[in-house]
Amino acid sequence: MSASNLPKSKVDSPVPSNSSNNHTSGSEQDPSQKPASKLETPTSANVSFNLDVKKDEKPSSKLCRACTDFKTWMKAQPAITQVEKKPVECPLDKNELGSNTWSFLHTMAAYYPDKPTTQQQQDMHSFINIFAKFYPCDYCAEHLREDLKTNVPDTTSRHNLSQWFCHTHNRVNLLLGKPQFDCSKVDERWKDGWKDGSCD
Ligand SMILES: Cc1cc2nc3c(=O)[nH]c(=O)nc-3n(C[C@H](O)[C@H](O)[C@H](O)COP(=O)(O)OP(=O)(O)OC[C@H]3O[C@@H](n4cnc5c(N)ncnc54)[C@H](O)[C@@H]3O)c2cc1C
Repeated sequence: MSASNLPKSKVDSPVPSNSSNNHTSGSEQDPSQKPASKLETPTSANVSFNLDVKKDEKPSSKLCRACTDFKTWMKAQPAITQVEKKPVECPLDKNELGSNTWSFLHTMAAYYPDKPTTQQQQDMHSFINIFAKFYPCDYCAEHLREDLKTNVPDTTSRHNLSQWFCHTHNRVNLLLGKPQFDCSKVDERWKDGWKDGSCD
């Protein structure tokens, strides 16, 4: 990022003040006074900073790195280093919930047995029906329950279950005006990765 793109407050480093329009101590303005020795270690007491801040802009406590010795500058770091912002963890909205849930459902189908036992087939039936009762987006769950009346889950194999979820998801996509997913690619998307190797 070029300096011109930076917010003003980041571009304008406060500088030790020698110019008359800065807030300076009386001793610095007195020409009879010895100028600050180069050997003198700058401290918050003997270095003043340009605090020419705009309205509503917090005065910066940044030391001017180029005008301060490294030791002093380093000492000031804990106070002025910006801690990287961690993304806030918040409850899911409908779309986040939907996307995460589809990821789980398609992945679950991708790892379902090729030849499930009768018990596994019944369990998957039960899981889908119970899922449709408790899915926490009320109207989404209602749509799914309606859908299940005419589109009975096919739990007879991994391939069939994956296709069933894909077509179920596509009916929701249709309802929402989203593009249809090519169900021949469901294993590439959810199990093996794309044929072009982009997931390898
Ligand atoms: C059971 C269920 C019912 C829902 N019902 C509603 C509803 O009634 N109204 C509503 O507003 N929202 C509903 N949602 C949420 C909605 O489906 C989306 O999850 C949400 O809009 C976010 O969409 P998205 O663009 O992030 O992608 P999503 O639709 O969440 O898809 C996530 C990813 O899955 C892949 N994908 C897309 N389609 C398919 C497919 N057919 N097969 C395999 N993979 C696919 C794509 O890579 C996509 O990026 C429902 C969600 C679920 C789980």
